[in-house]
Amino acid sequence: METKKIICIICPQGCEVTVCGDKSSRTVESIKGFGCKRGKTYAENEFFAPVRILTSSVKTINKQVPLVAVRTSKPIPKELLFAGMEEIKRLVVDKVNSGDVIVPNFLGTGADLIASGSVE
Ligand code: SF4
Repeated sequence: METKKIICIICPQGCEVTVCGDKSSRTVESIKGFGCKRGKTYAENEFFAPVRILTSSVKTINKQVPLVAVRTSKPIPKELLFAGMEEIKRLVVDKVNSGDVIVPNFLGTGADLIASGSVE
């Protein structure tokens, strides 16, 4: 059994939700502090499988614009953020427009790595 305090980031209220549960059996013993149902679901997901949008920069071959901002198209498991950064370090792009997919299905997560900036 584990207890974790999670700040809900769904709205500016920022409720502090306390979840007590067993991760291996995916059962929640108690959950308190949430102000609404959405926050309850958010805290449960954060407790069992936290995810984050990965944002970073990728090298380009353009000497005037040596880096271009990138992000994942949706949140990926938090435990993959480090591996994701290592993968991004190896990438080099040429011309990209904001929104272009740089790596589809990034790390097998189902999220694409997309450009959030442009390089002409
Ligand atoms: S639990 Fe509900 S009210 Fe509280 S921060 Fe999250 S979304 Fe907002």
